[in-house]
Amino acid sequence: MTQDPYEILGVSRDASADEIKKAYRKLARQLHPDVNPDPETQERFKDVSRAYEVLSDPGKRAAYDRGGDAFSQGFGGAGQGFSFTDIMDAFFGGGAPGGAQTRGPRSRARRGQDALIRLDVELAEAAFGVTRDIKVDTALRCEACAGEGTAPGTSPVTCETCHGQGEVAVVQRSFLGEIRTLRPCAACRGYGSIIPDPCRECSGDGRVRSRRTLTVKIPAGVDHGTRVQLTGQGEVGPGGGPAGDLYVEIHVEPHKTFTRHGNDLHTTVSLPMTAAALGTRLTLPLLEADLQPSETQSGDAGTTTTYDLEVHPGTQSGSEQVIRGFGVPSLRGGRGDLVVSIVVETPTRLDARQEELMRELAAIRGEEQPDGKNEAPHRSMFGRLRDAFQG
Ligand SMILES: [Zn+2]
Ligand SMILES: [Zn+2]
Repeated sequence: MTQDPYEILGVSRDASADEIKKAYRKLARQLHPDVNPDPETQERFKDVSRAYEVLSDPGKRAAYDRGGDAFSQGFGGAGQGFSFTDIMDAFFGGGAPGGAQTRGPRSRARRGQDALIRLDVELAEAAFGVTRDIKVDTALRCEACAGEGTAPGTSPVTCETCHGQGEVAVVQRSFLGEIRTLRPCAACRGYGSIIPDPCRECSGDGRVRSRRTLTVKIPAGVDHGTRVQLTGQGEVGPGGGPAGDLYVEIHVEPHKTFTRHGNDLHTTVSLPMTAAALGTRLTLPLLEADLQPSETQSGDAGTTTTYDLEVHPGTQSGSEQVIRGFGVPSLRGGRGDLVVSIVVETPTRLDARQEELMRELAAIRGEEQPDGKNEAPHRSMFGRLRDAFQG
């Protein structure tokens, strides 16, 4: 009889943990005493189990590979080398009935669920950060029983059906013979104990629904759809379990003059034809102008709310000016740009004097009879405006 665990399981010396497990399951299925009760098979079953115990434990496997004697280290009596779960896995192909629940009484305390709440904010609030009070309706720990679920002065009693084990043995007859499995106890739902006198406030759940106000700090740079995670502010778990997390999903309301593309802001400025031709300086309101003084990051009154935009003589309709660093702050630091698109407005109503001046200007410039030049189409301002209006 070989003492080599690799030979016993019929695997190569470089077999993976998975291969070893598969080989073991296959053999256990053939050799299990419930299936094959003759003494010789039982001996082989013990060998297989002991071999598996060595090879399934990385430390023991390494020790054996270094030249140790696999079975001389005193692994305890025959049959103790395999775990119940592995046997059940062998029969049922992974996951004993009831799975991890058939392992002693389970705790009443479980982690609470995460909660999601939507928060509407202005563009400036998303860009520069804001602190808001939000109302949250979640399960909170029951104060009356401190989450235990028991009426004051009482405590859970041991379940008589399972004697506190939380599980009961079920014997099944099958083609493999009699199989004894453990099932969660129905009397106590696997808890091992029963609450004879549940807390009246929470009906034994250990938590109550309640509305509370939470002050939330939204960091600068969040965007539409960003979820801000508030650890431990979700639902409290049953039985005094820890709370889940609260996610605040940001919804940014559209702004009347700025649109956001990533961390850049886009806006359009209309200019009279004369100003575009002659050049001018404009005072452009920035997104910061939307902030209440108390909402600014530092609270100082020195926050710039306007930008002096230099319009050069001869500025064309549809041209863009990029103002570096005046966009939206990034969550990772830095700041996007402000892109200003210029629209030059052609006067629509001229009085007699204005028309006279225009005609004189046209004459001086030799533009009385312009010869409309054909050009390759370019992405004009009008095209972009059309796109914008048509959505
Ligand atoms: Zn309670
Ligand atoms: Zn029970």
